[in-house]
Amino acid sequence: MSINTKYLKNNTQDIITASEILKSGGIVAIPTETVYGLAADMYNTQAVDKIFRAKNRPNDNPLIVHICDINQVYNLTDDFCVQAQELVKKYWPGPLTIILNKKKSVPNNITGNLDSVAIRFPAHKTAQKIIKHTGVPLVAPSANSSGKPSPTSFEHVLHDLDHKIDAILDGGTCDIGLESTVISFLEKTPRLLRPGFITQENIQSIIPEIIIDNSVYSKLDNNQKVISPGTKYKHYAPKSPVILINSSTENYVNFINQKYNQDQNILAMCFDEDLKYIKNNIKYISYGPENNFETQSRNLFKILRDTENIDISEIYVHINNNINNNFCDLKTAVYNRLVRAAGFNIINLI
Ligand code: AMP
Ligand code: MG
Repeated sequence: MSINTKYLKNNTQDIITASEILKSGGIVAIPTETVYGLAADMYNTQAVDKIFRAKNRPNDNPLIVHICDINQVYNLTDDFCVQAQELVKKYWPGPLTIILNKKKSVPNNITGNLDSVAIRFPAHKTAQKIIKHTGVPLVAPSANSSGKPSPTSFEHVLHDLDHKIDAILDGGTCDIGLESTVISFLEKTPRLLRPGFITQENIQSIIPEIIIDNSVYSKLDNNQKVISPGTKYKHYAPKSPVILINSSTENYVNFINQKYNQDQNILAMCFDEDLKYIKNNIKYISYGPENNFETQSRNLFKILRDTENIDISEIYVHINNNINNNFCDLKTAVYNRLVRAAGFNIINLI
């Protein structure tokens, strides 16, 4: 079905319009500090169905509930434990999602039939105003077609969802560029399910003992229990195959130069520092300086999307990761997205 998608600006009038559309059961893409979210009233079953259809998202992949006041947590759960309270006191509003047991009144279609609910209080002022004006918490998964890189600008949402959703509010480019850190409080020891801008170190400054879920670093075996359904799906993939090259600058550049002799249509997705060593004529795109993970986060999804506009056969991404020795930091968060974009296809030259 083709919808006449409204394009809204980031001003008071259009924020009210976005809320009116949401109140009447529409779905609207809104900016947040992480990525753009595709919002709907969490209690409107038909609106939530529209989200799954517009994104082509599997129904068992649950949605995060977005609130604009910490007290709203008490409408969603009876188990707001002290550890979770202390953590959000420090990091909300912000890029942190907590998972708690859900109240009966939280609809099953937003939780993928799980007994738990994911909750976030975004820091983005426009997102906060839209939630407040709408008067109910909003579910808001990333506003991309399922499987594609998450959207960090109006143009990305337009590319994936124009004519499929009721409106897009243009709030410019997202500051962080990666989705929120997700931490579950369903077990005795809290479990980090998705790395993001709020790091393991940040969390452990409040909660000393946490578990890092296996899915953060590696592909789950078929018989392993999936705690976060989103982690089992193909994610973040552009059109061309992505291969990660875990390597020093020298080995990466040699690898790329040799590959080019066999196939002139490869793309080097590299660090700024590699550029001066890559042979003329080789197609390249940089995703930031090697040790600036804020810049890499902000650029990553845009760069993955930009590769779709270049005629290429394969994408060779430079990474430099002794990942298992590291703390779960922003570098891990970037790696977590890249390794999924690559379908866990990594060549180690270290
Ligand atoms: P997205 O909305 O695209 O940022 O994805 C939301 C992520 O949160 C997915 O990976 C989901 O699997 C995860 N998630 C949401 N709700 C739950 C939940 N109740 N339990 C575990 N993971 C969840
Ligand atoms: Mg997503």
